[in-house]
Amino acid sequence: MTSTTGFDVAVVGGGVMGCTVALHLARGGMRVAVLERHGLCTHASGINAGTLSMQHPPHPRLVPYALGGRDLWRTSGDWLGTEVGFRERGGLVLAFTDEEAEALETHMAERKAAGSPIEVVSAGRAREIEPGLSKHPVLASYCGLDGFANSSLLGGAFRAALKGAGAEVRERALVTVIERAGDGFAVHADAVIGARRVVLATGVWSTQPLKWLGLAAPIGFVTNQMAVSERMDRVVSRMIGVVAGNLSLKQVDNGTVLIGGGWQGLGHPGTEGTAILRHNLIGNLRMARHAVPALGPARIARTWIGFRDDTPDRLPLVGPLPGAAGAFLIAGVRDGFTVGPFIGKVLADSILGREPEQPIFDPARLVVAAPS
Ligand SMILES: Cc1cc2nc3c(=O)[nH]c(=O)nc-3n(C[C@H](O)[C@H](O)[C@H](O)COP(=O)(O)OP(=O)(O)OC[C@H]3O[C@@H](n4cnc5c(N)ncnc54)[C@H](O)[C@@H]3O)c2cc1C
Repeated sequence: MTSTTGFDVAVVGGGVMGCTVALHLARGGMRVAVLERHGLCTHASGINAGTLSMQHPPHPRLVPYALGGRDLWRTSGDWLGTEVGFRERGGLVLAFTDEEAEALETHMAERKAAGSPIEVVSAGRAREIEPGLSKHPVLASYCGLDGFANSSLLGGAFRAALKGAGAEVRERALVTVIERAGDGFAVHADAVIGARRVVLATGVWSTQPLKWLGLAAPIGFVTNQMAVSERMDRVVSRMIGVVAGNLSLKQVDNGTVLIGGGWQGLGHPGTEGTAILRHNLIGNLRMARHAVPALGPARIARTWIGFRDDTPDRLPLVGPLPGAAGAFLIAGVRDGFTVGPFIGKVLADSILGREPEQPIFDPARLVVAAPS
């Protein structure tokens, strides 16, 4: 196996997190290698729903990161060199019962206090904003900044930007072990990469890389199902979600409607095998039709599944790894498409010794020594 040394940083994992960190480190003057076992942004980062919701960050502390991420996707032509289909459509989040209405008011008040420009609106006003809505909502909230971008464009965009910034991009490079070597690391993949620092950006697959460094973290995963309809005449203009979180839908420019909301399929990141759970797909589609009746006759063109990581406190793990000098983690970012470009820059700035725009999320709160 060949050996390539002299890197300042080896970034393991080429999703939106790894690519963003690597890009900013390379532009900050570091010699960077990105090691991705498949292609850049082919897992969660390239198959997600693309929703940029300022109403649904999983924790109010993530609101400034979501606003920052949205702004970076809006301006991706400037910093990434490629437009990624950003659209600002405005989003409605619906409550169908009085209990849900109460939950909506609390959820939105917390996120509004954290900086999201959200207004709670009556059901009648919601139908004025989106005439495609059914009569079922009893209350709603609206945020004009909500929108989406096209995650399938990320791989090509980051590949070009990383190469342009002088980073070494190694795709189809499965990392099989990381060892200490001198005052840095030897990262074993298609070659042995010697680097002073290592960034783990391995998403739901972070357990094994952490173990190589003698560490463990409670990074869980969910198996999210998605569906897309055939092309239709315009049935809905706004982004539609529900306060319970189990519906997210949008009609994109080509007329297809993307429908998700965290309904679970079968699958495990270890094997990467997945299977659609039919009753969950039907539940998701019924929910979509309950919100937007014109979806009733829509035929589904395609379904797919992706793995999404999570942490017990719903906050990411972003920063230096405890007890492993020179090693960093960026994982557990639940709405990682939205916050990814911003939080990746936050980590890169802190590695470069610059003051990040927002604080990191210290992994030490959840990362422990691996049981021997
Ligand atoms: C179906 C679905 C819908 C979603 N919808 C939204 C949404 O609408 N809005 C939103 O904000 N977020 C959404 N998300 C979440 C978002 O996509 C993720 O939070 C984000 O993409 C995570 O990025 P990542 O770089 O951490 O992980 P990933 O994209 O999973 O990247 C990790 C990479 O590490 C690589 N890797 C792992 N182990 C190794 C190894 N040993 N060697 C080399 N490479 C390795 C993998 O191949 C992978 O490419 C969705 C997720 C899913 C699955």
